Amino acid sequence: AGVPGVPGATAARRGGFAPEAARQDIPILHRMVNGRPLVWLDNGATTQKPRQVIEALASFYGAANSNIHRGAHTMAREATEAYEAGRAAVADFLGAGAPEDIVFTRGTTEAINLVAQSWGRANLGPGDDILVPVLEHHSNIVPWQLIAKERHARVVPVPLTPEGEIDQDAYADLLSSRTQLVALSHASNVLGTVPPVAQMTALAHRYGAKVLVDGAQAVAHLPVDVQALDADFYAFSGHKLFAPTGVGALYAKPEVLAAMPVWQGGGNMIESVDFGETTFAAVPHRMEAGTGDIGGVVGLLSALQWLTSFDRDAVAAYETALTGYAQQALATVPGLEVLGAAADRIAVLTFTLAGQDPAAVADCLDRDGIAVRAGHHCAQPTLRHYGLESAARASFALYNTSQEVDELVAALLRMQRGR
Ligand code: PLP
Repeated sequence: AGVPGVPGATAARRGGFAPEAARQDIPILHRMVNGRPLVWLDNGATTQKPRQVIEALASFYGAANSNIHRGAHTMAREATEAYEAGRAAVADFLGAGAPEDIVFTRGTTEAINLVAQSWGRANLGPGDDILVPVLEHHSNIVPWQLIAKERHARVVPVPLTPEGEIDQDAYADLLSSRTQLVALSHASNVLGTVPPVAQMTALAHRYGAKVLVDGAQAVAHLPVDVQALDADFYAFSGHKLFAPTGVGALYAKPEVLAAMPVWQGGGNMIESVDFGETTFAAVPHRMEAGTGDIGGVVGLLSALQWLTSFDRDAVAAYETALTGYAQQALATVPGLEVLGAAADRIAVLTFTLAGQDPAAVADCLDRDGIAVRAGHHCAQPTLRHYGLESAARASFALYNTSQEVDELVAALLRMQRGR
Protein backbone atom coordinates (compact mmCIF):
# COMPACT_ATOMS: atom_id res chain seq x y z
CA ALA A 1 0.00 0.00 0.00
CA GLY A 2 1.29 3.46 0.85
CA VAL A 3 0.64 6.71 -0.91
CA PRO A 4 1.88 6.88 -4.50
CA GLY A 5 4.31 9.69 -5.01
CA VAL A 6 4.59 10.53 -1.33
CA PRO A 7 7.72 9.12 0.23
CA GLY A 8 7.53 7.83 3.75
CA ALA A 9 3.75 7.66 3.70
CA THR A 10 3.65 4.29 5.38
CA ALA A 11 5.41 4.54 8.68
CA ALA A 12 6.73 1.43 10.35
CA ARG A 13 4.14 1.06 13.13
CA ARG A 14 2.97 -2.45 12.33
CA GLY A 15 1.90 -5.40 14.39
CA GLY A 16 -0.85 -5.08 17.01
CA PHE A 17 -2.41 -1.89 18.30
CA ALA A 18 -2.52 -0.11 21.63
CA PRO A 19 -4.53 3.13 21.95
CA GLU A 20 -1.62 4.88 23.71
CA ALA A 21 0.22 4.88 20.38
CA ALA A 22 -2.54 7.04 18.94
CA ARG A 23 -3.27 9.06 22.11
CA GLN A 24 0.27 10.35 22.39
CA ASP A 25 -0.13 12.02 18.99
CA ILE A 26 -3.34 13.90 19.87
CA PRO A 27 -2.60 17.06 21.90
CA ILE A 28 -6.23 17.92 22.68
CA LEU A 29 -6.75 14.64 24.53
CA HIS A 30 -4.42 15.99 27.20
CA ARG A 31 -6.52 19.06 28.04
CA MET A 32 -8.83 19.47 31.01
CA VAL A 33 -12.54 20.22 30.73
CA ASN A 34 -14.40 21.48 33.80
CA GLY A 35 -11.45 20.53 35.94
CA ARG A 36 -11.34 16.92 34.71
CA PRO A 37 -9.22 15.26 32.01
CA LEU A 38 -11.15 15.31 28.73
CA VAL A 39 -12.92 12.09 27.73
CA TRP A 40 -13.81 12.65 24.08
CA LEU A 41 -16.67 10.34 23.12
CA ASP A 42 -18.11 12.53 20.36
CA ASN A 43 -16.06 11.09 17.52
CA GLY A 44 -19.18 10.50 15.45
CA ALA A 45 -19.57 14.28 15.27
CA THR A 46 -15.89 14.95 14.63
CA THR A 47 -12.56 13.37 15.48
CA GLN A 48 -9.59 14.98 17.21
CA LYS A 49 -6.48 15.85 15.23
CA PRO A 50 -3.00 14.35 15.49
CA ARG A 51 -0.08 16.71 15.98
CA GLN A 52 1.17 15.56 12.55
CA VAL A 53 -1.96 17.01 10.91
CA ILE A 54 -1.74 20.25 12.89
CA GLU A 55 1.94 20.59 11.93
CA ALA A 56 1.20 19.86 8.27
CA LEU A 57 -1.35 22.69 8.26
CA ALA A 58 1.02 25.06 10.05
CA SER A 59 3.88 24.29 7.71
CA PHE A 60 1.69 24.66 4.62
CA TYR A 61 0.50 28.11 5.70
CA GLY A 62 3.87 29.03 7.22
CA ALA A 63 6.12 28.00 4.36
CA ALA A 64 4.28 26.73 1.31
CA ASN A 65 1.00 28.60 0.85
CA SER A 66 0.06 29.19 -2.76
CA ASN A 67 -2.90 28.74 -5.04
CA ILE A 68 -2.65 25.74 -7.32
CA HIS A 69 -2.58 25.05 -11.03
CA ARG A 70 -2.29 28.64 -12.09
CA GLY A 71 0.87 30.68 -11.98
CA ALA A 72 4.13 29.16 -13.17
CA HIS A 73 6.14 29.75 -10.01
CA THR A 74 7.82 27.36 -7.65
CA MET A 75 5.28 27.60 -4.84
CA ALA A 76 2.29 27.16 -7.15
CA ARG A 77 3.98 24.03 -8.45
CA GLU A 78 4.65 22.80 -4.92
CA ALA A 79 1.07 23.46 -3.80
CA THR A 80 -0.25 21.70 -6.91
CA GLU A 81 1.95 18.69 -6.21
CA ALA A 82 0.76 18.55 -2.60
CA TYR A 83 -2.89 18.83 -3.66
CA GLU A 84 -2.52 16.08 -6.25
CA ALA A 85 -0.59 13.92 -3.78
CA GLY A 86 -3.63 14.31 -1.52
CA ARG A 87 -5.86 13.10 -4.33
CA ALA A 88 -3.62 10.08 -4.93
CA ALA A 89 -3.64 9.32 -1.20
CA VAL A 90 -7.44 9.42 -1.07
CA ALA A 91 -7.64 7.13 -4.13
CA ASP A 92 -5.23 4.72 -2.48
CA PHE A 93 -7.09 4.86 0.84
CA LEU A 94 -10.45 4.09 -0.81
CA GLY A 95 -9.08 1.44 -3.16
CA ALA A 96 -10.03 3.53 -6.21
CA GLY A 97 -8.46 2.66 -9.54
CA ALA A 98 -6.94 6.10 -10.16
CA PRO A 99 -6.56 9.55 -8.56
CA GLU A 100 -8.78 10.95 -11.33
CA ASP A 101 -11.73 9.09 -9.78
CA ILE A 102 -11.57 11.44 -6.77
CA VAL A 103 -13.28 14.84 -6.58
CA PHE A 104 -12.48 17.04 -3.61
CA THR A 105 -15.51 18.52 -1.84
CA ARG A 106 -16.21 20.27 1.45
CA GLY A 107 -17.26 16.95 2.91
CA THR A 108 -19.84 14.19 2.70
CA THR A 109 -22.80 16.55 2.48
CA GLU A 110 -21.38 18.45 -0.46
CA ALA A 111 -20.33 15.22 -2.19
CA ILE A 112 -23.87 13.85 -1.97
CA ASN A 113 -25.36 17.15 -3.14
CA LEU A 114 -22.92 17.12 -6.06
CA VAL A 115 -24.18 13.68 -7.14
CA ALA A 116 -27.81 14.70 -6.65
CA GLN A 117 -27.46 17.94 -8.59
CA SER A 118 -25.26 16.62 -11.39
CA TRP A 119 -25.95 12.91 -11.89
CA GLY A 120 -29.45 13.16 -10.41
CA ARG A 121 -30.62 16.05 -12.56
CA ALA A 122 -29.37 14.26 -15.70
CA ASN A 123 -30.65 10.79 -14.85
CA LEU A 124 -33.81 11.09 -12.76
CA GLY A 125 -37.26 11.62 -14.18
CA PRO A 126 -40.95 11.09 -13.46
CA GLY A 127 -41.69 7.63 -12.08
CA ASP A 128 -38.11 6.95 -11.00
CA ASP A 129 -37.28 5.68 -7.51
CA ILE A 130 -34.40 6.52 -5.19
CA LEU A 131 -34.18 3.92 -2.42
CA VAL A 132 -32.98 5.33 0.90
CA PRO A 133 -32.83 3.21 4.08
CA VAL A 134 -34.48 4.66 7.20
CA LEU A 135 -30.98 4.40 8.70
CA GLU A 136 -29.64 7.41 6.82
CA HIS A 137 -28.24 10.71 8.05
CA HIS A 138 -30.20 13.75 6.86
CA SER A 139 -27.32 14.44 4.45
CA ASN A 140 -28.24 11.27 2.59
CA ILE A 141 -31.98 11.99 2.61
CA VAL A 142 -32.58 15.68 2.00
CA PRO A 143 -30.45 16.09 -1.18
CA TRP A 144 -32.51 13.25 -2.71
CA GLN A 145 -35.78 14.82 -1.62
CA LEU A 146 -34.75 18.11 -3.25
CA ILE A 147 -33.80 16.59 -6.60
CA ALA A 148 -36.71 14.13 -6.53
CA LYS A 149 -39.13 17.03 -6.16
CA GLU A 150 -37.55 18.86 -9.05
CA ARG A 151 -37.47 15.78 -11.31
CA HIS A 152 -40.82 14.33 -10.18
CA ALA A 153 -39.09 11.20 -8.91
CA ARG A 154 -39.79 9.45 -5.58
CA VAL A 155 -37.65 8.89 -2.50
CA VAL A 156 -38.63 5.47 -1.16
CA PRO A 157 -37.65 4.60 2.42
CA VAL A 158 -36.29 1.10 3.02
CA PRO A 159 -37.50 -0.09 6.45
CA LEU A 160 -35.38 -1.33 9.33
CA THR A 161 -35.70 -4.43 11.49
CA PRO A 162 -36.13 -4.02 15.27
CA GLU A 163 -32.36 -4.65 15.58
CA GLY A 164 -31.69 -1.61 13.40
CA GLU A 165 -30.54 -3.48 10.34
CA ILE A 166 -31.84 -2.78 6.85
CA ASP A 167 -34.72 -5.18 6.17
CA GLN A 168 -33.20 -7.12 3.29
CA ASP A 169 -36.49 -8.74 2.22
CA ALA A 170 -38.17 -5.35 2.02
CA TYR A 171 -35.17 -4.01 0.11
CA ALA A 172 -35.38 -6.82 -2.44
CA ASP A 173 -39.13 -6.17 -2.82
CA LEU A 174 -38.70 -2.42 -3.27
CA LEU A 175 -36.07 -2.74 -6.00
CA SER A 176 -37.55 -2.56 -9.49
CA SER A 177 -36.81 -1.34 -12.97
CA ARG A 178 -37.92 2.11 -11.68
CA THR A 179 -35.02 2.19 -9.20
CA GLN A 180 -32.34 4.56 -10.47
CA LEU A 181 -30.34 4.89 -7.29
CA VAL A 182 -29.79 3.28 -3.91
CA ALA A 183 -28.25 5.71 -1.39
CA LEU A 184 -27.05 4.01 1.78
CA SER A 185 -24.48 4.54 4.48
CA HIS A 186 -21.53 2.23 5.03
CA ALA A 187 -22.12 2.65 8.77
CA SER A 188 -24.91 4.33 10.71
CA ASN A 189 -24.04 7.34 12.86
CA VAL A 190 -26.76 6.41 15.38
CA LEU A 191 -26.93 2.62 15.60
CA GLY A 192 -23.46 1.82 14.30
CA THR A 193 -25.05 -0.66 11.89
CA VAL A 194 -22.80 -1.79 9.03
CA PRO A 195 -25.12 -3.05 6.30
CA PRO A 196 -24.06 -5.70 3.77
CA VAL A 197 -23.12 -3.00 1.25
CA ALA A 198 -21.45 -5.23 -1.36
CA GLN A 199 -24.42 -7.60 -1.40
CA MET A 200 -26.95 -4.75 -1.58
CA THR A 201 -24.94 -3.10 -4.35
CA ALA A 202 -24.82 -6.29 -6.41
CA LEU A 203 -28.59 -6.60 -6.09
CA ALA A 204 -29.18 -2.96 -7.09
CA HIS A 205 -26.95 -3.40 -10.12
CA ARG A 206 -29.14 -6.27 -11.33
CA TYR A 207 -31.88 -3.67 -11.78
CA GLY A 208 -29.51 -1.25 -13.47
CA ALA A 209 -29.56 1.11 -10.48
CA LYS A 210 -26.53 3.06 -9.31
CA VAL A 211 -25.38 2.90 -5.68
CA LEU A 212 -24.09 5.78 -3.58
CA VAL A 213 -22.37 4.87 -0.34
CA ASP A 214 -22.13 7.46 2.44
CA GLY A 215 -18.83 6.61 4.12
CA ALA A 216 -18.83 9.47 6.65
CA GLN A 217 -18.89 7.20 9.68
CA ALA A 218 -17.18 4.17 8.17
CA VAL A 219 -13.84 5.58 7.03
CA ALA A 220 -12.31 5.99 10.49
CA HIS A 221 -13.26 2.45 11.48
CA LEU A 222 -13.35 0.11 8.48
CA PRO A 223 -10.89 -0.49 5.69
CA VAL A 224 -12.66 0.67 2.50
CA ASP A 225 -12.34 -0.84 -0.96
CA VAL A 226 -14.72 0.92 -3.33
CA GLN A 227 -13.90 -1.48 -6.15
CA ALA A 228 -14.64 -4.55 -4.01
CA LEU A 229 -17.91 -2.91 -2.90
CA ASP A 230 -18.54 -2.06 -6.57
CA ALA A 231 -19.98 1.28 -5.40
CA ASP A 232 -20.74 3.82 -8.11
CA PHE A 233 -20.20 6.66 -5.64
CA TYR A 234 -18.52 6.84 -2.23
CA ALA A 235 -18.52 10.02 -0.12
CA PHE A 236 -16.66 10.95 3.06
CA SER A 237 -15.60 13.91 5.23
CA GLY A 238 -12.01 14.48 6.31
CA HIS A 239 -12.97 15.73 9.76
CA LYS A 240 -14.45 12.36 10.75
CA LEU A 241 -11.07 10.89 9.86
CA PHE A 242 -8.63 12.94 11.97
CA ALA A 243 -8.28 15.60 9.21
CA PRO A 244 -9.43 19.24 9.30
CA THR A 245 -13.01 20.37 8.72
CA GLY A 246 -13.93 21.77 5.32
CA VAL A 247 -12.46 19.04 3.14
CA GLY A 248 -13.78 15.70 1.97
CA ALA A 249 -14.07 13.68 -1.18
CA LEU A 250 -16.32 11.94 -3.61
CA TYR A 251 -15.23 8.79 -5.42
CA ALA A 252 -17.11 8.01 -8.62
CA LYS A 253 -16.56 5.19 -11.08
CA PRO A 254 -14.61 6.69 -13.98
CA GLU A 255 -17.28 5.98 -16.62
CA VAL A 256 -19.98 7.44 -14.36
CA LEU A 257 -17.95 10.55 -13.52
CA ALA A 258 -17.03 11.11 -17.18
CA ALA A 259 -20.73 11.18 -18.12
CA MET A 260 -21.78 13.57 -15.34
CA PRO A 261 -22.67 17.13 -16.33
CA VAL A 262 -20.72 19.90 -14.63
CA TRP A 263 -22.27 21.22 -11.44
CA GLN A 264 -20.80 24.52 -10.27
CA GLY A 265 -19.12 26.84 -12.76
CA GLY A 266 -16.10 29.06 -12.23
CA GLY A 267 -12.34 29.07 -12.32
CA ASN A 268 -10.27 25.87 -12.42
CA MET A 269 -13.06 23.80 -13.99
CA ILE A 270 -12.76 25.16 -17.53
CA GLU A 271 -10.61 24.49 -20.56
CA SER A 272 -11.55 27.65 -22.43
CA VAL A 273 -14.09 30.38 -21.77
CA ASP A 274 -15.67 32.31 -24.58
CA PHE A 275 -18.97 34.16 -24.84
CA GLY A 276 -19.59 31.92 -27.83
CA GLU A 277 -18.81 28.57 -26.28
CA THR A 278 -17.12 27.53 -23.05
CA THR A 279 -15.42 24.15 -22.78
CA PHE A 280 -14.56 22.30 -19.60
CA ALA A 281 -11.47 20.72 -18.12
CA ALA A 282 -11.11 16.96 -17.86
CA VAL A 283 -12.42 15.11 -14.80
CA PRO A 284 -11.96 15.44 -11.90
CA HIS A 285 -11.03 19.14 -12.25
CA ARG A 286 -14.23 20.05 -14.04
CA MET A 287 -16.10 19.12 -10.87
CA GLU A 288 -13.95 21.40 -8.70
CA ALA A 289 -14.94 24.99 -9.46
CA GLY A 290 -13.05 27.75 -7.67
CA THR A 291 -10.19 27.54 -5.20
CA GLY A 292 -10.45 24.42 -3.11
CA ASP A 293 -9.35 23.87 0.46
CA ILE A 294 -5.69 23.36 -0.43
CA GLY A 295 -4.51 23.50 3.18
CA GLY A 296 -7.29 21.10 4.10
CA VAL A 297 -6.11 18.60 1.48
CA VAL A 298 -2.59 18.85 2.89
CA GLY A 299 -4.07 18.09 6.32
CA LEU A 300 -6.14 15.23 4.91
CA LEU A 301 -3.05 13.72 3.31
CA SER A 302 -1.28 13.89 6.65
CA ALA A 303 -4.29 12.33 8.45
CA LEU A 304 -4.38 9.44 5.98
CA GLN A 305 -0.67 8.88 6.47
CA TRP A 306 -1.20 8.92 10.23
CA LEU A 307 -4.12 6.50 10.22
CA THR A 308 -2.56 4.08 7.76
CA SER A 309 0.65 4.03 9.80
CA PHE A 310 -1.25 1.77 12.20
CA ASP A 311 -2.15 -1.83 11.45
CA ARG A 312 -5.79 -1.19 10.49
CA ASP A 313 -6.91 -4.76 11.08
CA ALA A 314 -5.48 -4.53 14.58
CA VAL A 315 -7.22 -1.15 15.06
CA ALA A 316 -10.53 -2.67 13.93
CA ALA A 317 -10.07 -5.60 16.32
CA TYR A 318 -9.27 -3.17 19.16
CA GLU A 319 -12.36 -1.06 18.42
CA THR A 320 -14.58 -4.15 18.29
CA ALA A 321 -13.26 -5.27 21.67
CA LEU A 322 -13.72 -1.75 23.12
CA THR A 323 -17.32 -1.60 21.82
CA GLY A 324 -18.07 -5.01 23.36
CA TYR A 325 -16.56 -3.86 26.65
CA ALA A 326 -18.61 -0.64 26.55
CA GLN A 327 -21.83 -2.54 25.80
CA GLN A 328 -21.26 -4.80 28.82
CA ALA A 329 -20.32 -1.92 31.08
CA LEU A 330 -23.30 0.21 30.03
CA ALA A 331 -25.60 -2.76 30.68
CA THR A 332 -24.77 -2.39 34.40
CA VAL A 333 -26.40 1.06 34.52
CA PRO A 334 -30.03 0.70 35.68
CA GLY A 335 -32.53 1.96 33.12
CA LEU A 336 -29.97 2.34 30.34
CA GLU A 337 -30.93 1.03 26.91
CA VAL A 338 -28.68 0.95 23.87
CA LEU A 339 -30.51 1.45 20.57
CA GLY A 340 -30.10 -1.25 17.94
CA ALA A 341 -28.47 -4.62 18.06
CA ALA A 342 -26.93 -4.99 14.65
CA ALA A 343 -24.64 -8.00 14.26
CA ASP A 344 -22.10 -5.95 12.34
CA ARG A 345 -21.44 -2.51 13.83
CA ILE A 346 -18.90 0.23 14.38
CA ALA A 347 -17.99 1.78 17.73
CA VAL A 348 -21.11 3.93 18.16
CA LEU A 349 -23.49 3.43 21.10
CA THR A 350 -26.64 5.53 21.27
CA PHE A 351 -28.63 5.14 24.45
CA THR A 352 -31.50 6.33 26.59
CA LEU A 353 -31.56 6.49 30.36
CA ALA A 354 -34.95 5.90 31.99
CA GLY A 355 -36.39 9.07 33.45
CA GLN A 356 -33.60 11.30 32.12
CA ASP A 357 -33.68 13.80 29.31
CA PRO A 358 -30.77 13.03 26.91
CA ALA A 359 -29.71 16.70 26.94
CA ALA A 360 -29.50 16.56 30.75
CA VAL A 361 -27.44 13.34 30.50
CA ALA A 362 -24.95 15.03 28.16
CA ASP A 363 -24.87 18.10 30.38
CA CYS A 364 -24.21 16.04 33.47
CA LEU A 365 -21.42 14.07 31.76
CA ASP A 366 -19.91 17.33 30.53
CA ARG A 367 -19.47 18.46 34.12
CA ASP A 368 -17.17 15.45 34.47
CA GLY A 369 -15.25 16.35 31.31
CA ILE A 370 -16.98 13.63 29.28
CA ALA A 371 -18.15 14.75 25.83
CA VAL A 372 -21.10 12.85 24.34
CA ARG A 373 -23.71 14.13 21.96
CA ALA A 374 -27.42 14.38 22.70
CA GLY A 375 -30.20 15.12 20.23
CA HIS A 376 -31.53 13.66 17.02
CA HIS A 377 -28.06 13.11 15.51
CA CYS A 378 -29.28 14.39 12.12
CA ALA A 379 -31.10 11.08 11.72
CA GLN A 380 -34.68 11.72 12.84
CA PRO A 381 -36.20 8.80 10.88
CA THR A 382 -33.78 6.40 12.63
CA LEU A 383 -34.68 7.70 16.09
CA ARG A 384 -38.39 7.68 15.27
CA HIS A 385 -38.03 4.01 14.31
CA TYR A 386 -37.55 3.59 18.08
CA GLY A 387 -40.27 6.10 18.97
CA LEU A 388 -37.72 8.71 20.06
CA GLU A 389 -36.92 12.31 19.23
CA SER A 390 -33.66 12.44 21.12
CA ALA A 391 -31.00 10.16 22.61
CA ALA A 392 -27.45 10.35 23.95
CA ARG A 393 -24.56 8.94 21.92
CA ALA A 394 -21.08 7.79 22.88
CA SER A 395 -18.99 7.32 19.74
CA PHE A 396 -15.45 5.96 20.00
CA ALA A 397 -12.23 6.27 18.04
CA LEU A 398 -9.01 4.30 18.08
CA TYR A 399 -7.58 6.55 20.81
CA ASN A 400 -10.35 5.81 23.33
CA THR A 401 -9.67 3.40 26.19
CA SER A 402 -11.52 1.03 28.50
CA GLN A 403 -10.67 3.40 31.39
CA GLU A 404 -12.65 6.10 29.60
CA VAL A 405 -15.57 3.67 29.28
CA ASP A 406 -15.29 3.06 33.04
CA GLU A 407 -15.42 6.82 33.68
CA LEU A 408 -18.50 7.15 31.48
CA VAL A 409 -20.25 4.34 33.31
CA ALA A 410 -19.25 5.64 36.74
CA ALA A 411 -20.61 9.10 35.85
CA LEU A 412 -23.89 7.59 34.59
CA LEU A 413 -24.23 5.55 37.78
CA ARG A 414 -23.63 8.66 39.88
CA MET A 415 -26.28 10.44 37.84
CA GLN A 416 -28.79 7.62 38.37
CA ARG A 417 -28.11 7.76 42.11
CA GLY A 418 -28.72 11.53 42.00
CA ARG A 419 -24.97 12.07 42.78
N1 PLP B 1 -23.44 10.97 6.79
C1 PLP B 1 -23.24 10.45 8.00
C2 PLP B 1 -23.51 8.99 8.23
C3 PLP B 1 -22.76 11.26 9.04
O1 PLP B 1 -22.57 10.74 10.25
C4 PLP B 1 -22.49 12.62 8.78
C5 PLP B 1 -22.03 13.52 9.86
O2 PLP B 1 -22.37 13.32 11.02
C6 PLP B 1 -22.71 13.12 7.49
C7 PLP B 1 -23.19 12.26 6.53
C8 PLP B 1 -22.46 14.54 7.14
O3 PLP B 1 -21.12 14.84 7.22
P1 PLP B 1 -20.60 16.33 7.01
O4 PLP B 1 -21.43 17.19 7.92
O5 PLP B 1 -19.17 16.28 7.38
O6 PLP B 1 -20.82 16.67 5.56
